[in-house]
Amino acid sequence: MQLFPTSLFSDGPVLRVLDLAIAAQESGGKLSLDDELQRYIRLVRGNWVANWNCSVYASSGVLDYASDSVAQQGGLDSFPPEFKEKAARAAGDMDPADYLRTLAELLRIADRQGVPEYRELPLSGWEFLQTFPHLFGFDVVLADEGDLPFAGLVERFATAEHPFCHERSAALATEAQRALVLFPGGQCLKERLSWATHDGLTELIDTINNHMQREHS
Ligand SMILES: [Zn+2]
Repeated sequence: MQLFPTSLFSDGPVLRVLDLAIAAQESGGKLSLDDELQRYIRLVRGNWVANWNCSVYASSGVLDYASDSVAQQGGLDSFPPEFKEKAARAAGDMDPADYLRTLAELLRIADRQGVPEYRELPLSGWEFLQTFPHLFGFDVVLADEGDLPFAGLVERFATAEHPFCHERSAALATEAQRALVLFPGGQCLKERLSWATHDGLTELIDTINNHMQREHS
């Protein structure tokens, strides 16, 4: 039996893209694979580290490799359980190796089309979680500790994080700034997080900025 690097099939872009393909197929027509691939591309291209570590072009290459490996092994039996299950589910009636090759090509085609604006292709739920993970995480903090006015909760969060503010506090303010730019208007991200309006995010940024100027300048 030819060896293959198991880690490529137990984590990383192959599983991410297969998840999107399965979600599209099992959505009953609500999601299209092309839209989901465009969102994946928008997410990777919009994050410097993600793009540097594994570009969409590299992801499609890993899918090609997965296709070759499955063909060489004559099926999915010798692969890690999660990959095996997802590849079989996504492929349906198709040969899994052929399906993975097709998925790689669809990803390359979508990558060549460029990145759609949010007004053209709305931010989806999974994309929101990956684009604004710190804002989502702060929502959990608010749910657990909602006994102060909003600015007081942000201040308490920043104080608790201090002096390691380069980690979560700076990232939280950065995501808030990004949200204000990408989703202008009073509602901003309110559809996803009730407090993430223009005013709420501005208050969050001001409170963290005050902490940074007081403690780190
Ligand atoms: Zn600090």
